[in-house]
Amino acid sequence: MSRIPPPQDCTANSAHNSAVTERVIPLADHRYRAAVPSVPASARPANGLLTDTLGRPLRDLRISVTDRCNFRCSYCMPKAVFDKHYEFLPHDSLLSFEEITRVARIFVSHGVRKIRLTGGEPLLRKNLEVLVGMLAALRTPDGEPLDLTLTTNGSLLKRKAQALKDAGLQRVTVSLDALDDTIFRRMNDMDFPVADVLEGIDAAERVGLGPIKINMVIKRGTNDHEIVPMARHFRGTPIVLRFIEYMDVGATNGWRMDEVLPSAQVIERLNAAFALQPIDPNYIGETAERWRYADGGGEIGVISSVTQAFCHDCNRARLSTEGKLFLCLFATAGHDLRALLRNQDGRTYADDEIAAAIGLIWQRRDDRYSELRGAMRPDETLGERRVEMHYIGG
Ligand code: SAM
Ligand code: SF4
Ligand code: SF4
Repeated sequence: MSRIPPPQDCTANSAHNSAVTERVIPLADHRYRAAVPSVPASARPANGLLTDTLGRPLRDLRISVTDRCNFRCSYCMPKAVFDKHYEFLPHDSLLSFEEITRVARIFVSHGVRKIRLTGGEPLLRKNLEVLVGMLAALRTPDGEPLDLTLTTNGSLLKRKAQALKDAGLQRVTVSLDALDDTIFRRMNDMDFPVADVLEGIDAAERVGLGPIKINMVIKRGTNDHEIVPMARHFRGTPIVLRFIEYMDVGATNGWRMDEVLPSAQVIERLNAAFALQPIDPNYIGETAERWRYADGGGEIGVISSVTQAFCHDCNRARLSTEGKLFLCLFATAGHDLRALLRNQDGRTYADDEIAAAIGLIWQRRDDRYSELRGAMRPDETLGERRVEMHYIGG
């Protein structure tokens, strides 16, 4: 069984073996740490003006539709932990499409305008296009459709692109860490060929799931020499390549600061090959810093979560596969919305009551992990074990 040390305050289901000094628990136990939200007796109806303790609105909802994945990227789901003994969530604990759509509708009433489906690998969730269709039918209070998108590793995109487009998906982000087949197969650790992902990207382009973004996580010493070849490949196309700093998310990837290549160095390397110019963000709270090729060859982005925290205008909430709400990618605990949706205490909650509970949670939010992390020494940690990326989505 995959084992890692428990968080300091979690003793649930811990197995003690007198032959070893360290207590161990299955990693899965951590997922169940979530409080059932309080439902205020009275609250003003949602009006889209909700802000948290740092004045940040709620605009972006990321929904993880499965905790499973067919890749084992070492920075996200290392094989040593997520092996054949690892217990993924049982199907009945996942939110149904109806439950996801109901929660999404409530979030829209609070001001959410963008929904991203993620995972795990979202395209592994059966009939995902049905959920896409249900979410595409949602409207803002002004009658506008949402910005509906999906992040995928691209492995099943060739097969699914048309159905997703037909169902109302607007665009996709595809994760791709290298063009070199050997490096790509090593990074996904499932020997998956890069050619299939490139065909998926072509299919997405063909059916109109654009503008397409490509996410490349940079691990120094592993794929940083692929930065310029990747840029060269996507230059001159409408596809926007984004370079992401390797983050200390979760507790299983063995993150080390010396494997992070700061975005400033990515820009330096690119600038040496092709002249770049900075450009303004598209909107407040955009995670990527944008640059364009001076010769008109398109645009790239860098996401510097480690070296340049952007918590000050983080407007993102995350809904886990089993309906736990997380207020930060680095959260240590969630809020169990599924308990309200499924009436586990024998009470029925109406949408406005659930909206009031979510409102209270957001109003109390003070998360700003990356900013706090930035002020610490690289070898320091903030203590408790954090939720895993594949569980709450990127
Ligand atoms: N499986 C899909 C995929 O890979 O696109 C969606 C889920 S994945 C968790 C979402 C994004 O998180 C991906 O772009 C992935 O590269 C990124 N990611 C995962 N672990 C990361 C880490 N430790 N640091 C930076 N980005 C990470
Ligand atoms: Fe799977 Fe995406 Fe995580 Fe890679 S980054 S292991 S593709 S969930
Ligand atoms: Fe948002 Fe948390 Fe990331 Fe800061 S660390 S940008 S609060 S998700």
